Amino acid sequence: MNRRSFLSNTSIIGAAAMIHPTTVAAEIKRFETSSELNVSSGLKITRITPIVVPYASYVKVETNGGITGWGESDKDFRPLGKIFLEEAVIKHVIGKDPMAIDEIWNYMYFKSYDEGSYGLVTGALAGIDNALWDIKGKALGLPVSDLIGGRFRDQVKCYGSFGANVYSHEKEKYGGRKKKTPLEMAGIAANFADLGYTAIKVRMQIRQLNIDPNPDPSFETVKEVRAAVGDDMTIFFDANNGYTSHRAIEVGKKLRELYNIATIEEPVTMNNYHALREVTDALDFPITAGEHEYTRWQFRDLVQIGNADILNPDVLKSGGMSECLKIAQMASAFDKRFMIHSAYPMIGTSAGLQFAASQPNAMEYQEYVGPRPWMGLQKYFKNDLEFNQGFLKVPTEPGWGLEMDEKALLKDAKKQ
Ligand SMILES: [Mg+2]
Repeated sequence: MNRRSFLSNTSIIGAAAMIHPTTVAAEIKRFETSSELNVSSGLKITRITPIVVPYASYVKVETNGGITGWGESDKDFRPLGKIFLEEAVIKHVIGKDPMAIDEIWNYMYFKSYDEGSYGLVTGALAGIDNALWDIKGKALGLPVSDLIGGRFRDQVKCYGSFGANVYSHEKEKYGGRKKKTPLEMAGIAANFADLGYTAIKVRMQIRQLNIDPNPDPSFETVKEVRAAVGDDMTIFFDANNGYTSHRAIEVGKKLRELYNIATIEEPVTMNNYHALREVTDALDFPITAGEHEYTRWQFRDLVQIGNADILNPDVLKSGGMSECLKIAQMASAFDKRFMIHSAYPMIGTSAGLQFAASQPNAMEYQEYVGPRPWMGLQKYFKNDLEFNQGFLKVPTEPGWGLEMDEKALLKDAKKQ
């Protein structure tokens, strides 16, 4: 096989693994010219509109068949993501068949490779990718869970997640302080227990800027939380990248022994897979990581080098449902489990539910802290997800199962 025919036959996954510009260019060329791609569902993408509102960034994808899909992009730096899509992506995707989701994903990702291979780029692309899944579901009359493996759960257990930081909407309640006290954290945990939750996550938000804090509020906080919720509650502990490996091992061992935490999340700096490996080798209970990994290639290293036990791809950051699906299925080859990372109440949460309901290696939990009323995202939808006594129902309507209220959305978008 000569080099030219090798390039035209090789998969895009192989091309990316080599990270060779000539190979990437060949894949883009193949997409633009190959006669294989003339197979068409008859649907064509006619317009793509990113819409930014406070706390969320949505993408509307219209087709010639009258089917419109809605996706969600990453919430961070929303105006930049919108500009990136408008300047660098949308013009290349108009006219494509929306049912050929993987081809479009490959094209968007490799065409944008020089602008960055994760972070803002994958977060913005997620909006288009997620909208394509909504279109496919609506075209076939199926929820996304039925498109990606088939639904085997009707409802998913929620875990309540809460952070030590005082957010801007909470300032008044906590008297202008920056951090909540252990007793205040315990009070939040008790509220989740009252709502029927059987699992919670304590986020200490230590982060790299305050690495290995001394004194460390984690022990007192988890102690009070455990006392407030009793022995039956499952407690996840999130270090938010706050420890060096030796300190993470020390803290993890103590918290497991004293308060029976179920997992420690992001114990060390994100993307530092060798330090993570020291932690996973030393602790004999599950380690969670992945909310700062964005593609299958980063997750490959997270698994092969870091040996994380539970993976956290984010459907709004990691390039959308398509990339998360590949990450989840790659994880199954290593007998690893995953939990979609998304604390966002509407499309992000529906995506987590579709995953947890259809992938055998999905954990039984979905992060959900309720509607987060200060964000006001519910008003952009005509229906809502159904929460009852610690469980969320998996939407069974086509696509994401959510109906956008475009009028409400455009009204707020104008104010941006
Ligand atoms: Mg986290």
